Amino acid sequence: MRARKPPDWLIEERRNGLGHWAAFCLSCGHTLRYFEEGEHELPLECPQCAGPIRARCPACSARFASAFATACEACGEELRPDELLGLRIRRGG
Ligand SMILES: [Zn+2]
Ligand SMILES: [Zn+2]
Repeated sequence: MRARKPPDWLIEERRNGLGHWAAFCLSCGHTLRYFEEGEHELPLECPQCAGPIRARCPACSARFASAFATACEACGEELRPDELLGLRIRRGG
């Protein structure tokens, strides 16, 4: 039996709690959070590497709440390659 302790990534997300919705850089995995009314303030380019920022599902334009999502909850479309997620989680600390 595993304890139902929140995983580290969830704790980090809450600590970073700057918005209900998430966006991330497709190049380096840098994550941004935003509120619905602040979506227009999201940068189009990553502030770290100038890579493309993805804030919506490319297939159905659904927003995503987790910066660690790899697939769209609404339609199942891949939001980014899984290997980038691995890099992202090892970063920081
Ligand atoms: Zn980047
Ligand atoms: Zn979708």
